[in-house]
Amino acid sequence: MATSTALLVRTPGAPFERSTITRRELRAHDIQIDIHFAGICHSDIHQVRQEWGAGIFPMVPGHEIAGVVAAVGSGVTRHRVGDRVGVGCFVDSCRECEPCRAGEQQYCQRGMVVTYNGRDHDGEVTYGGYSQQIVVDENYVVHIPEAIPFETAAPLLCAGITVYSPLRHWQAGPGRRVAVVGLGGLGHMGVKIAHALGAEVTVLSQSLAKEKEGLRLGADHYHATGDPRTFTALRGSFDLILNTVSATLPLDSYLSLLRLDGAMVNVGAPSEPSSLNMFSLITRRATLAGSSIGGIRETQEMLDFCAEHRMGAEVEVIGAGDVDAAYDRVVRSDVRFRFVIDIATLGQA
Ligand code: NAP
Ligand code: ZN
Ligand code: ZN
Repeated sequence: MATSTALLVRTPGAPFERSTITRRELRAHDIQIDIHFAGICHSDIHQVRQEWGAGIFPMVPGHEIAGVVAAVGSGVTRHRVGDRVGVGCFVDSCRECEPCRAGEQQYCQRGMVVTYNGRDHDGEVTYGGYSQQIVVDENYVVHIPEAIPFETAAPLLCAGITVYSPLRHWQAGPGRRVAVVGLGGLGHMGVKIAHALGAEVTVLSQSLAKEKEGLRLGADHYHATGDPRTFTALRGSFDLILNTVSATLPLDSYLSLLRLDGAMVNVGAPSEPSSLNMFSLITRRATLAGSSIGGIRETQEMLDFCAEHRMGAEVEVIGAGDVDAAYDRVVRSDVRFRFVIDIATLGQA
């Protein structure tokens, strides 16, 4: 078994510490990856702080993983030693249910095996990307195109696919007006991808503090939701509202911004439930929906799309000692736009 230095949290909300974890011996279809960069997703914070319910501790978060194949099992055909690869939010699934057979493993009816804070089919606890290495079945590993540097590719494995999938499913494109709510890790990729797909993009942010960056990323319009006039001015404006906010929002106010037959799709995953007045849906034949990351095939498609459009995430690269401070900044909405851990710093004193 290979040992790996990792950043782990021993109890809910405790600070990170460096420790050693073991990764399983390579099975026939396993790949061992030397991790170069790992993104910090708000979901890591929700789980480390137990905002979604009980977690498994000690916990090594990280499901935005970019690195290089270091070794392969005897039966591996999809990747070779030296390949640039990525791992996202899940590392296995049942492979037999209808969603799995359709390549939508994130909706596996028996539950996907999440990259960390979960259990593999053999009962072993999963540990994520804030570590030097990871071992993953080849079918759950994607190829990172040469055109995308590792540090800007890592956040695509969760933030990128989580917005790409609903933007494609709800047909963001020319002639469609798309609003992205929240300009954080997911939101900034939502703006970039919706713009690249040809949609007219509006950012709805709490304030105008990030307006200049939002417009640079490809937004056509930018409005502050902290200003109540925004909701009057934009009433009936959007075909699609993509909500990336990590806290509950007043849904009725946002639904009033939809055009006839518009959809509000939620990818933000707050811990508290939301309330809804049915008339907000009835009066505009609206759809209120949710969406979870994306399957392996679609994740590869998203990476190829980003390579073709020469884009990755906007990142702040940090060292292994800076993760606690970075978490606090994410919670304060003070991130432009994704923190990424340089895993080379894990081995340094
Ligand atoms: P993030 O970087 O913290 O971005 C969230 C943004 O929401 C903030 O930058 C902020 O944007 C806005 N916001 C935060 N608190 C708010 C509040 N109280 N009211 C209004 N707006 C607020 O987080 P992230 O990593 O993008 O993740 C966002 C959410 O998506 C998290 O809940 C995460 O768990 C979830 N998620 C879901 C999936 C999925 O598959 N569905 C995948 C990944 C993540 P402004 O400063 O612009 O207002
Ligand atoms: Zn995530
Ligand atoms: Zn399944």
